[in-house]
Amino acid sequence: MNADATPDWAAASPLLPGATLGVVGGGQLGRMFTLAAKVMGYQVVVLDPDPASPAGQLADTHLKADYRDAVALLRMGSLCQAVTTEFENVPAESMDMLARHCRVAPSAAALAVAQDRLAEKTHARASGCETAPFANIETAADLDAAWERVGAPALLKTRRMGYDGKGQARVNSRGELDAAFAQLGDVPCLLEGFLPLEREVSVVLARNGLDEIAFFPVAENRHRDGILDVSIVPARIPADLAERARDMAAHLAREMEYVGVMAVEFFVLKDGRIVFNEMAPRPHNSGHYTLDACATDQFQQQVRALCGLPLGDARLLSPVVMVNLLGDVWRPQPDWRALLGHAGVQLHLYGKAEARPGRKMGHYNCLAPTLTRPWASPRKPGPPWASAATDQSL
Ligand code: AMP
Repeated sequence: MNADATPDWAAASPLLPGATLGVVGGGQLGRMFTLAAKVMGYQVVVLDPDPASPAGQLADTHLKADYRDAVALLRMGSLCQAVTTEFENVPAESMDMLARHCRVAPSAAALAVAQDRLAEKTHARASGCETAPFANIETAADLDAAWERVGAPALLKTRRMGYDGKGQARVNSRGELDAAFAQLGDVPCLLEGFLPLEREVSVVLARNGLDEIAFFPVAENRHRDGILDVSIVPARIPADLAERARDMAAHLAREMEYVGVMAVEFFVLKDGRIVFNEMAPRPHNSGHYTLDACATDQFQQQVRALCGLPLGDARLLSPVVMVNLLGDVWRPQPDWRALLGHAGVQLHLYGKAEARPGRKMGHYNCLAPTLTRPWASPRKPGPPWASAATDQSL
């Protein structure tokens, strides 16, 4: 791809408040985009088949249809001046169809890279990022060569549709590789070397069509059972490492001619190296801290980038810890009064009626002058449902 090229519409006049914006997908990311767009005076159309979708509840128009529904896509394209997405697995043909009628960002081509771990890691390497050693596996006939190349210990990951640690298996021997490939459904996979991680960090950035880039501070992320548990910001890594992460993320975005908000996840290894893991072509759970702790949040940046407006100041205003709230802690509901008794806590709930284990119901941001147990005070102990990982890690 040509790094100098910008989309045709980039130089066109920006879309000003009053215009109608669309988002494909009505989950919590779509909901927070909708809120940001409404605050800025835009109309919002959401496409999501779920009649109770978190974003659909707040949109001006909720098109309750499948993401491939040609009639709904046509309606969306005719109602909206610009459309974005809140998840990477939206069919590329749907975005292409929309692009015939209105501005679409990120592009179907950028989504296609992020949808496929092979394309993603190949792009990252071509852009100068280090990755884990990996080998492509299309069919069982590729297993021997992949094992030869990567060896133990390894992780087998489906190339598509993996998220929150799903669609992957740890593999320690050639025999386990056979079993894991069958267990994942004989679908195309990547075999990846298992790296000695010290930390996981992410960079969320926004790029508009005029090649302006705004970086949010690097977040340090802790996961539990494969799902993001807490983000700690600023990440506790040396400044030069944080700068390298930002540079790599910017390079990846430019090389893809990316327009919108993008998150890039990196591993910091025990020997100090920083290694690309994956990218998300949208705002990201690890960027939710920006809602309360940055001068501009990631969803407002998404609106600005989509509309061809100048990007906002992404500066961190306060150290912050973001804690995810999964359905597991609804017994029947968390003790909101205890949580909100901490003056630095900001609560965000996504309007989901049914709490299920592992389902992201909301999150809270804890702001404090320092990162050391930001909610702790002699009078008020930490929230009782704060995860074990959270309690131990700060
Ligand atoms: P992913 O779906 O690629 O983000 O992987 C989910 C989680 O698995 C990551 O957040 C890491 O904790 C872990 N992981 C993924 N790939 C590797 C790797 N190559 N080496 C060690 N841990 C990994």
